[in-house]
Amino acid sequence: DESHWLHYSITRYGPGDRLMVVRDVTRLQHLEQMRRDFVANVSHELRTPLTVLVGYLETLLDADDGSQPRRQRALQQMQQQAERMQELLRDLLLLSRLESGNETQQQEVFDVSSGLQGLAQDARALSAERGHQIDLKISGNTLLHGSQAELQSAFSNLLFNAVKYTQNGGRIEMRWWQDEQGGHFEVSDNGPGIEERHLPRLTERFYRVDPSRNSATGGTGLGLAIVKHVLLRHDGNLEIHSTLGKGSRFSCHFPAQRLAQAPGTY
Ligand code: ADP
Repeated sequence: DESHWLHYSITRYGPGDRLMVVRDVTRLQHLEQMRRDFVANVSHELRTPLTVLVGYLETLLDADDGSQPRRQRALQQMQQQAERMQELLRDLLLLSRLESGNETQQQEVFDVSSGLQGLAQDARALSAERGHQIDLKISGNTLLHGSQAELQSAFSNLLFNAVKYTQNGGRIEMRWWQDEQGGHFEVSDNGPGIEERHLPRLTERFYRVDPSRNSATGGTGLGLAIVKHVLLRHDGNLEIHSTLGKGSRFSCHFPAQRLAQAPGTY
């Protein structure tokens, strides 16, 4: 079928010498689908053995009386690494589900207000020892049409990134507000900031500003890719502002038609 063929580019290799690169779009789409299925299948297959491994490690650690410190350290290391793999698989599965895009978008309403209050509580508990100040400001209509689970995981990724990358004692603010354009969610921090040249690539899978620093902080490198896909599925968009040494601001914008009216306010 001719319509499936696309002239991609014409490159000059030498004087008068032309190479025409032709790409079959359906074949590319097919390959992309195969890649996604592959990632999803591999993630599923790895999940069971890993769950078993983590189970045995827990049993061993429970039985360990600490009399052999080297053995205990080794077990703890194994547990930590196994948990990192579980986290990575969870994010890979979530991302491949989001990308496949064929999940029916339920007619759910997400209560942003209670979602964000829960997140703020979790973050405060988690970073209690790090002395972060975590503020939450909410105004306007806070009901959003969309998947609760997806939106909550996007908001949570942005908040926990701020917690993860902001130095102890730093300030983190979450904000939700509404105007004629729609609903807006923002996480800002006074953390290390991000150099401008990294910003366009930040939502790519596994893209990290400083891979060595991140092996210490943890994380899968998939967080912002997940945020991007969740927003795409909710007609939203993501804006990132950041100044090196000053801090970062991640803003999500949802169009007005995504806002739901609270029952009884009509
Ligand atoms: P990760 O699991 O590495 O956090 P993400 O996709 O969530 O992966 O983020 C990609 C990269 O963006 C991070 O590795 C980090 O370098 C940078 N980043 C994200 N959020 C912040 C933030 N609030 N402050 C500074 N850097 C950030």
